[in-house]
Amino acid sequence: MVVPVICTLMPGEITAELFLDARATLGEGALWDSKRHMLYWVDIIEKKLFDFDPSTKKNRAIDVGQFVGTVVPRKRGGVMLALHHGFCALDLETEKLTPIADPEKDLPDNRFNDGKCDPAGRFWAGTMSLVGKNNAGALYRLDPDLTVHRMLDGATTSNGIVWSLDSKTMYYIDTPTRRVDAFDYDIETGDIKKRRPAISIPESGGNPDGMTIDAEGMLWVAHWGGGRVTRWNPRDGKPLQTVRVPVSRTTSCAFGGEKLDQLFITTAQIGRFSQTPLPDEPHAGGVFVAEVGTRGVPAFEFAG
Ligand code: CA
Repeated sequence: MVVPVICTLMPGEITAELFLDARATLGEGALWDSKRHMLYWVDIIEKKLFDFDPSTKKNRAIDVGQFVGTVVPRKRGGVMLALHHGFCALDLETEKLTPIADPEKDLPDNRFNDGKCDPAGRFWAGTMSLVGKNNAGALYRLDPDLTVHRMLDGATTSNGIVWSLDSKTMYYIDTPTRRVDAFDYDIETGDIKKRRPAISIPESGGNPDGMTIDAEGMLWVAHWGGGRVTRWNPRDGKPLQTVRVPVSRTTSCAFGGEKLDQLFITTAQIGRFSQTPLPDEPHAGGVFVAEVGTRGVPAFEFAG
């Protein structure tokens, strides 16, 4: 059964506009590279990284040959990827992939999913089961010295992750918990502790997926199955603003553009384990954009 997206807007709500009719199977991992002025995003299922120039709408596809969960810029150039089989570096000129580390060699039914760099340039990314096993994933931290650290166990669908503007708190989404959790974060050591709920997502709004943070320290969460991105105050757990997306499977978001004032949003055509298309959503899998009246902050690069 296809659940239609509710289009009735509440006061103050805006609707994102289609920016690139990409028809991605599972668009994800939006991230703005402030140095190159490019938007990176991925199609996990089609095994592609996109290097997208919003000024020309040229969307270069790079086939990475395996499921690709997320992408972050690398300080020395190129990008880092979290793939089905571990962390890799990618040279954007030659399109050559260099494997870095695979912490789950023994778990071929797991793949990497969402992730981002912390303020010290460590690359965090989590894994999930490809066969729907609960609590089979983990959250890993790849340090600039290329050592890998297992930071959390028992994740089911490891997803959005960001750090507070004062670098003291890490926010993290394991989708089925329907929460954004906060941790005390130590920028010097990369340690996390004191996990506690920061935001609870009501069931009517879909499931929390990707996440970014704005220049006021508020969190923007993409709602899988909810056709929206919402802005939340992580200090009191309250919702602040809703951006409707005319695609129910809303997956990730990132501020981009010269002034970091455009919110780019990725979407998907299919579910993680379902092959059912969404015929009433002709632009499912597109990249959407919204001017939300708030600016983002530059994404951190991998320092290794
Ligand atoms: Ca995701």
